[in-house]
This record gives sequence, C-alpha cells and structure tokens, in this order.
Amino acid sequence: MILTNIGTVKEILSKHGFSFSKGLGQNFIINPDICPKIAENGNAQPGYGIIEIGTGIGVLTAELAKRADKVCAVEIDSRLLPILDETLAEYDNIKIFNEDVMKCDLHKIIREEFAGLKAAVCANLPYYITSPVLMLLLESRLPVDSITVMVQKEAAQRLCAKVGSRESGAITVAVNYYGTVRTVFNVSRGSFMPAPNVDSAVIRIDPHPEPKLDEENEKFFFRIVRSGFSQRRKTAANALSSMAGIPKDKIYATLEEMGLSRSARLEELDMDELIRFAVELKKKNDAVE
Ligand code: SAM
Repeated sequence: MILTNIGTVKEILSKHGFSFSKGLGQNFIINPDICPKIAENGNAQPGYGIIEIGTGIGVLTAELAKRADKVCAVEIDSRLLPILDETLAEYDNIKIFNEDVMKCDLHKIIREEFAGLKAAVCANLPYYITSPVLMLLLESRLPVDSITVMVQKEAAQRLCAKVGSRESGAITVAVNYYGTVRTVFNVSRGSFMPAPNVDSAVIRIDPHPEPKLDEENEKFFFRIVRSGFSQRRKTAANALSSMAGIPKDKIYATLEEMGLSRSARLEELDMDELIRFAVELKKKNDAVE
C-alpha cells in the first residue's frame, strides 16, 4: 500500500471515519521523498531497533521497518490502531504501543524489545510537544545512537543555533549540552496532509556517550541556565542573583577569573564558557566563608 498516495490515504481515512485532530498535531507526510530520507539519515538499518513517536497512518513506520530489524512505535490516538492494522499488515517487525510518549517507559521498551540491537529514535514529532519530548529523551539519557526528528522550522533554527548567538535559547543550551545537533534537511509545508501553516525541518541529535558534568554540577549548570535565560536581557549578575539567589560578588569574581566583563549576559557565553562558568561559580557558591 502506498501511503503517500493522496487517493489511497483519503480512502482509508474515510473508510475508518477518521478526522484529523489538530490538538494532537496530526499532519501526516504525503511527500514520498521525505520518509526514506528520514529513515536513511536516522540509523534505520540492519542491527538497529527504532523507536518512533507518533505513527499517524504509518507512512514513516513502514519505511523504518523496511530498513531496521525492529520498530517500536508509540501512538496516543487509539482511532489509528485499526488503520495501522491495515496499512502495516505486511510487516512483522513492528510493535505499536498505544500510549502517551510522555508517560511511556521507553527505557523498558529498548531493554525488552531491542535485545542485541543498537537503538535510535526517528519521528515526525507532534509539534505541540517538541521541546518536552526532546528533553525527556535527553534528560532520561535514553540509550540511543541518534534522535532524528521532524520539527517546525523555527524550532529547528533555535535548536541548531550556535550557543552564544542571538538565536539560541535555554533549549539550545540544553540540547547542545546533551549532544551534537544539526539540521539534516528542510521540508515544505505542502509535504503534509493537512498542510500546516509553517515549514518544517528534520534535525538529528547524536547524544554524547558520557555526561559532560557529574550530577551535582549538572544540576547547578541547569539552574544557572534556567535562571539566566529566563531573564536574558539582564546581566548574568543581575539575573542569577535575583532568580537563583547567588551573591553578586561571587558572580563577578567568576566572570573576572574567566576574563569576562562584569556586565556579561549569559546568552553571550558559548557552550564551553557556560560549563566553565557554572563549575567555577558552584565552587565559589559552595565555599564556606
Ligand atoms: N508519523 C506520521 C507521519 O509522519 O505522517 C504522523 C506524524 S504527526 C505530525 C504526529 C503523530 O503523533 C500523530 O499521529 C499523533 O496522533 C501522535 N501523537 C500526538 N501526541 C502524542 C503523544 N503524546 N504520544 C504519542 N503520540 C502522539
């Protein structure tokens, strides 16, 4: 069954009385070039088990199943299950989990379903939960080699911005802390049914094999990033003293030690500087006087 054929898609959806849910971010891929490209760029290959988030009618799921050893797909909308039974009938290496990805134990799925395989995530993400899903995957240190996902173009630009540039935000820092991220290709809005109001892009995150900081420093690092970026127009000293309760003299001393101005803003620091700043500031903040 060709799941990018508009006639076929319309026929199967109407047969099952399916109507798109805007709230669940249901924009299904109908451009035949996209899914093979996501699969090929996303480690869908022999030796891999792939986690997919949000199957829709299974257009990407099928391309993943053609290439990888196994696909475990999480889909919240139970109305899609009878459709998937039909559209994916020819594959015996797909398992669907009718769950909310935010509540689903993906670690358990990888442990139990992908024994002896490497793992990767591939998805056309429901856009309303792009950042929470990415943070969930990264913070929980899901043991995957890559996370290759379609997101809104603006989100891709923010996620792939250089840390320290105007375009970067707390999510840019977080993603870059956990891995390396890049845009793989852009996708026009006409590639979906129904067409959304914005274009999209596929990004790939390769998580670092080891954490950059130990647990305590990592906690402090994110406290700093959250506080500093929630008031990004303020200087680091003003933002961190008011939001994180850190004494200004310790912030100034850390900035000076690093050769940075007292009026530096956190958003101006690159990734290495941010990490060094957090580690040095924590030492000063922890010191008993
Ligand atoms: N992969 C399909 C495609 O590319 O055509 C569908 C992508 S569509 C953008 C997002 C899918 O995620 C929808 O099928 C939607 O029902 C599902 N979804 C939305 N929220 C979800 C959640 N919290 N957990 C799991 N799936 C979800």
